[in-house]
Amino acid sequence: MHNESGTRRAANSHENADSGDNPSNRTDGQTDRRSDGRDGSRNSDQPRTGTRRRLPRRRDAVVKRTGPPVVERREPEPPRQSSPERNGATAPDGPQTGAPTGQRPKYVRWGDIDLTPEIADAIAAMNYREPSEIQRLAIPPLLAGRDVVGQAVTGSGKTAAFGIPMCESVDPNSRRVEGLVLVPTRELAQQVAKEIAAVGSKLGVKVAAVYGGDPINRQIDQLARGVPIVVGTPGRIKDHMARRTLDLGNVRFAVLDEADEMLDIGFADDMEFILRRTPSNRQTALFSATIPGFILKLIRHHLNDPVWVKLVDDFDGIETAAEVNQIYYDVAERDKQRAVREVLEAMPNDCQTLMFRRMQIGVDRLSRDLERAGYPVRGIHGGMSQRDRDRVMSAFRDGSLRVLIATNVAARGLDISTITHVINYDMPDNVEEYIHRIGRTARMGKEGTAISFVGEHDSEIIEKVLAKIGKDTLNQKLLGIYGG
Ligand code: AMP
Repeated sequence: MHNESGTRRAANSHENADSGDNPSNRTDGQTDRRSDGRDGSRNSDQPRTGTRRRLPRRRDAVVKRTGPPVVERREPEPPRQSSPERNGATAPDGPQTGAPTGQRPKYVRWGDIDLTPEIADAIAAMNYREPSEIQRLAIPPLLAGRDVVGQAVTGSGKTAAFGIPMCESVDPNSRRVEGLVLVPTRELAQQVAKEIAAVGSKLGVKVAAVYGGDPINRQIDQLARGVPIVVGTPGRIKDHMARRTLDLGNVRFAVLDEADEMLDIGFADDMEFILRRTPSNRQTALFSATIPGFILKLIRHHLNDPVWVKLVDDFDGIETAAEVNQIYYDVAERDKQRAVREVLEAMPNDCQTLMFRRMQIGVDRLSRDLERAGYPVRGIHGGMSQRDRDRVMSAFRDGSLRVLIATNVAARGLDISTITHVINYDMPDNVEEYIHRIGRTARMGKEGTAISFVGEHDSEIIEKVLAKIGKDTLNQKLLGIYGG
């Protein structure tokens, strides 16, 4: 089914084959910088524009830092689309068809949704007592065969929102791929495949996760044995298509998960390429927090009269987690390590913390220093081998690792419901990223705390964040090192 030019494009794709198909795995030399200002490409030694922030003086501060500035390299960020609609793109007002935006159905319990007993049992075994909002709104139309656009963020339960109808739709014994899920990152591929496999476990639905950085031969063997559902990153999926180890000619249900993230990473053409090679009478669901112009076009061309389920506000199309207790401290760059130790020491033992740094080298340095000082810390970023990333992630997931220091890219889309704290050791570059980050905690209605260190050059971003979040919600406090 695939034509030659498509195959060629696959071969030229930046995320080709075994080099790993997640751009976050690129080496520093391959840095793609975002250029649209939303997630700026500034190096850490380049001050943000705007005034320098006046910070409190540390009580024991006597020495001025000397020596040349340290130039840190930013985690390679994926290229952005240059579409003018991207900047500040929010959800469209006009194109919704099907259920009106924002419409809330009457209260729906699992028992109100027509599920096969094995799937209902699996959901009960997963301890999902009641459907989440996105599940209430998206599962019924999907079960009825409608296409759906879901505007919801990770943490809303959207994986099961499409995973349940997908398991209902495919033949569990099929050796042909009937369900296809495209996701932006390898971590998400693993996470989503696991969740769908759990939903389909009692029906015996097999799910293959295919993503770069994982040995392709193992995936080829698995695909050759036959699976009804494949979850993968677009690059690796295209690679398998080119090798003819994956045939999408029998897909009945396709999902684009985190479509805006896939667009950001540079998978725009790949999403279209793959969709075009599935049967046009398939059912399609697209999940995306924001709906930039390209995604809107994709929806118009590839979805059939979709029901539009919107669970995000109209600001950046991002939901602010109301349950997150948000605090910020003014901290001079040179004091940040002391500050983070103070914060970590004040936390109860059973906390789990995701900490953000801007640069890969910053992650390495901070994790090394804190580890040496005896803190239970590891770092993760796109410059690490897949095996190391997997090892760190599984320790964090199983709770044996309490503190993970990550770059934005490495942490994207991660869903770990036990995260109690998010620390912005380095502030994000924009409000949207701030909200994405703090949304890593307070999952599924739990409580969480987000702590931000606001440095000398962070005046502009903190002003913007405060304008969005409000001073009542984002509270300023003073660290002990400054006499607080
Ligand atoms: P997601 O938005 O799909 O990444 O899901 C976020 C988290 O919520 C995952 O850990 C799911 O296992 C969990 N989850 C999904 N649906 C439910 C539900 N109905 N009840 C409780 N937990 C859920």
